[in-house]
Amino acid sequence: TEFSRELYAPIGPGGAEDAARYGRKAANLSRLAGLGMPVKPGFAVAADVVSALADRGAAALGPGFEAALAELAPGALLALRASPGRKEWGGPATLLNLGASVEGLEPRIGPCAARDATRRLIHAFAVHVGGADPEAFEYALHDLLKAHGADSEHDLDADQLDELIETFLDLHEEETGDPFPASPAAQLAAAMGAMARTWASTSARLLRVSRGGPEQGGLALIVQEMALGLGAGLSGAGRAAFRSERSGAPGIEGRMLFQAQGNDALAGLRTPRLIGAAERGEAGVRDPSLEEAAPEIADRLRALGAKAERAFQDAMTLEFTLEDGELFVLGAEPTRRSARASVRISVDLAKTGAISEEDAVLRVEPRTLSELLHPTIDPRATRDRIARGLPASPGAASGPIVFSAEAADAAAARGVPAVLVRVETSPEDIRGMHSAAAVLTVRGGMTSHAAVVARGLGTPCVVGCSGLSLDLEARELTAPDGRVFREGDQITVDGAAGEALAGAAPTVQPEFSGALAELMGWADRLRRMRVRANADTAQDARVALGFAADGIGLCRTEHMFFEKGRITPMRRMILADREADRRAALEVLLPMQRADFIGLYRVMQGRPVTIRLLDPPLHEFLPHPDEEIDDLAEVTGLTLRQLRRRIADMQEFNPMLGKRGCRLGITMPEIYQMQARAIFEALAQSWTDGPLVRPEIMIPLVSARREASLIRRDIDQIAASVAEETGKGFSYKIGVMVETPRAALRAGDLAGDMDFLSFGTNDLTQMTYGLSRDDAGRFMRDYVNSGVFAEDPFHSLDIEGVGELMMIARDRARETRIDIPLGLCGEHGGDPASIRFCEAAGFDYVSCSPFRVPIARLACAQATV
Ligand code: PEP
Ligand code: MG
Repeated sequence: TEFSRELYAPIGPGGAEDAARYGRKAANLSRLAGLGMPVKPGFAVAADVVSALADRGAAALGPGFEAALAELAPGALLALRASPGRKEWGGPATLLNLGASVEGLEPRIGPCAARDATRRLIHAFAVHVGGADPEAFEYALHDLLKAHGADSEHDLDADQLDELIETFLDLHEEETGDPFPASPAAQLAAAMGAMARTWASTSARLLRVSRGGPEQGGLALIVQEMALGLGAGLSGAGRAAFRSERSGAPGIEGRMLFQAQGNDALAGLRTPRLIGAAERGEAGVRDPSLEEAAPEIADRLRALGAKAERAFQDAMTLEFTLEDGELFVLGAEPTRRSARASVRISVDLAKTGAISEEDAVLRVEPRTLSELLHPTIDPRATRDRIARGLPASPGAASGPIVFSAEAADAAAARGVPAVLVRVETSPEDIRGMHSAAAVLTVRGGMTSHAAVVARGLGTPCVVGCSGLSLDLEARELTAPDGRVFREGDQITVDGAAGEALAGAAPTVQPEFSGALAELMGWADRLRRMRVRANADTAQDARVALGFAADGIGLCRTEHMFFEKGRITPMRRMILADREADRRAALEVLLPMQRADFIGLYRVMQGRPVTIRLLDPPLHEFLPHPDEEIDDLAEVTGLTLRQLRRRIADMQEFNPMLGKRGCRLGITMPEIYQMQARAIFEALAQSWTDGPLVRPEIMIPLVSARREASLIRRDIDQIAASVAEETGKGFSYKIGVMVETPRAALRAGDLAGDMDFLSFGTNDLTQMTYGLSRDDAGRFMRDYVNSGVFAEDPFHSLDIEGVGELMMIARDRARETRIDIPLGLCGEHGGDPASIRFCEAAGFDYVSCSPFRVPIARLACAQATV
């Protein structure tokens, strides 16, 4: 009847194509059959039947089951497979060879293969259906092999295999309390019942809920005639992919075994054969590949793979069985792939017209791009190697050594990402690995925790540097050559070469591959928001332009003053008692600052450049208590006592909430006046046919309208005088950073006087939570691990809280001025989830660190769809 054909749908077109009812595997198999691929006959048992089976037992099968079974070839061996809605939900193990018997098979496939298939069935049935202890079977096999002096079951003759079958039949009864059922129908019914119950068990339910699956229902089954990988002629089983997992380039790859079934080739019991000739050269595989041993079969597989890719509009891996030289397809699933391969495959598919360019853009996870965008060590640099290990995750990075995840978090919060050095890592270290510039471990292999996590994060990582010894107590690292490195010492991790180097090695920037450049071009056509970069120097700006940033969204000018030769005049300026002295020091700084801006303008020709006036508390520029200050006393003309006194006077209880940002600009107006003059003089000096850029001057840490309007008045005056002095007319913008809650609430006022607003979400997050951005690292890991916060709000924007404040600010600002440009320049500007929020909120741009610009461009494009 129609009804029972819905419960038991044949594999094939018009059959089990609905993945919601018959599972992903059955749906794919039906499509493969519909494409004319060699698929053995079978039917899918709908998920409804399977859940009834778990509740009510075999009675739930009904008459439709008999009818479906009757359509299969009489006497055929059957395979029973789980077909969950999604592969990730897991599912009970496949049962093969149902109905196998020595008498039935021997004429077809010979005495040994017939016995091999039969003992496999009894073994698997006892364990997976009867719940027998798998070890009992392993021991029995082991004892028998030993008794006959055989290495593996493949060395046993027919009589010995008969003995094994007898032993397994006895064990079945001993272990499960029942004799092994002789009738194929009884085997099948019992196996289906066992799968249904396994799926409904508490542990399976918990597991699939944790993987995003449904608690109830959701498992269909596939009953299918077997393609026998054992016996006569060329027989075997394996999996083949038609794109390189690493690069995405076309080419056949995979593993197979002759005289094998199901997943044997992946199980590691025997050394598998590679599929493609080009894969050879991999260690440990000696036999010729399938392509070399049977080129016509490899060709047939290749044709099937190409067909599947076209039909599924994706690179597909095929599961196959070879039965006496004949190829059968058992399943298809998307090929596993690296980030690079994912880009290549999406772009190839779009270029052949299989998918749209928009689909290609949507298919690549923005975060994974970081894997393709990392710098490498300059090949011309001299390498001072400390240790060698395994190249676990690509990219090269330097930083001070830290020995704990907490220390890595704390270092990143201070803006100096560190190299995390551990014996090995564990899940508690994940947050620290997030903030680390690179990871180095003494133990572990390519699939160790550190390696897997670092690759996922795109963080350079070298594992298994067994020559290193760590003394965590003394916080020291000893290299094989005896050199000792302490916490804070600079080292470099070269994740591509698998080496750790002393010092900070020079790096070169990665080049965009053709496919990536193409994909980014499509993303750029799709996106609405602009992506600017946070770049403080001309060098940063060049990197940003290399990644096609639309401009600079944040130049933190304070970073220009930490350099050698500048810190002293800066300190003189800060320590000056009288305005005149301060002005004199600023006179020295002015040309330096002007040169910096000329450098930036030259790189950014024509693009917006947002320059933020000095922001941090001034004492950040002062010498540390243990630093030598005699020289400083000399240049400032103060006695050592006076100098110490002045430094002490400048200490604040809570500097992040103290005299910083525009509060400096208001109380010491000469500082911002100097910066404004440098901005405009640089503009005049880099004039060619007109101004190179149109600067956007940004005032930090504003909380009141009057602060911004006072500073604006000064800047406008300076612009006018520089214009008069140079005879050039400038156009520029002045805006504020919205980074205090009050600025957000009063955005309506601010929009009245300002040309743009840029959300500084680092400070805004800090102040909205009342949570120090420099100290959050100490406990954020515990907070996130124990679920107090879903995410670190300094990594991914807190949309509920900080986001609401931003929406209030947006609405109030736009009420004053409907078209006021809105941007975001905190760390969140490179985070895809935060970018989605900005797109939905109708912002004009995000600004992020140069390396995250491509990620942001892709995320912006995806957010528009
Ligand atoms: C911010 O606060 O978000 C910001 C961009 O400024 P900074 O990180 O320099 O404080
Ligand atoms: Mg800030």
